[in-house]
Amino acid sequence: MSAPELSIVIPVYNEELNLPLLFSRLYPVLDGLGRGYEVLFTNDGSVDASINLLKAQYDLRPDVTRIIDFNANYGQHMAIMAAFERVRGQIIVTLDADLQNPPEEIPKLLLLIDAGHDYVGGYRLNRQDSFFRTYASRVINGVRRATTAIEMTDQGCMLRAYRRPIIDAIVRSGANNTFIPALAYSFSARPTEVGVRHEERNAGVSNYSLYKLIRLNFDLITGFSLVPLQLFTMIAMACAGCSFLLVIILALRRLIIGPEEGGTFTLFGILFFLISVTMVGIGLIGEYVGRTYQVVRTRQRYFVREVVERAE
Ligand code: UDP
Ligand code: MG
Repeated sequence: MSAPELSIVIPVYNEELNLPLLFSRLYPVLDGLGRGYEVLFTNDGSVDASINLLKAQYDLRPDVTRIIDFNANYGQHMAIMAAFERVRGQIIVTLDADLQNPPEEIPKLLLLIDAGHDYVGGYRLNRQDSFFRTYASRVINGVRRATTAIEMTDQGCMLRAYRRPIIDAIVRSGANNTFIPALAYSFSARPTEVGVRHEERNAGVSNYSLYKLIRLNFDLITGFSLVPLQLFTMIAMACAGCSFLLVIILALRRLIIGPEEGGTFTLFGILFFLISVTMVGIGLIGEYVGRTYQVVRTRQRYFVREVVERAE
């Protein structure tokens, strides 16, 4: 078997209800491309029958199917990372397993890769998600635009295509908590975007709780920018300046008008405000220290229980 041209990367977490339809829609599209391809599924510690379905699909199409089986749940981005470390193709496409990104849109991305782009990001046309998710995305997109140099219409869309050098750079970076599309963007030379259809989740529920979403967006902001930290320093400096002014005014007042008696509560107010600013700062610093710690300890990011594939 010669190396395929195209590698499709799909993270799978409890998708037993979606996999049969995914297989029946994805493989015909890929067969129709006329390019050598492989599909890498990472089973991210599913607790349902996903792994059995994946293995059945491997038995059907062992020539183009590969499975990486995690021992536990490490999250979507680590699942993609594990596949990136093993891809054999020169063009890599990432896709969700829940059919929210229609496999029929893959050729669109490939056209732009063929046109010479090394990064093609999808953005969702007529997004089919809850009002809350759509609105939260808009807010976080704005924050990202203001704090990082990453240009992205729709950071939540996982239907994206990359050329191999970008994937190699991601693998070499050994990033821990990361947002793969953003990391890839920072390595790209000729990025572009294209609108892709978006469908409602075929079956099952989103694997992202509010908590996971907040964590993911924290990864995005703190992983790519120091602006939160710098902003805090600015605020702290402004606070220090104001406090200093206040002390001067109070001192002058004491000398000119005399002692102030009723000012105790003003003092408390100011004190509480300053303490709260300090607490936010400590939290932020903790965020970066934690991140440094994770990189420094060089612990294995995930554990692969089994890889089901044919030898190269
Ligand atoms: N996923 C994963 N590990 C996780 C959570 C999700 O591999 O811990 C996969 C999931 O199977 C799907 C993709 O990541 O293929 C996107 O997940 P989901 O549809 O839950 O996210 P949403 O579309 O709600 O953002
Ligand atoms: Mg989804």
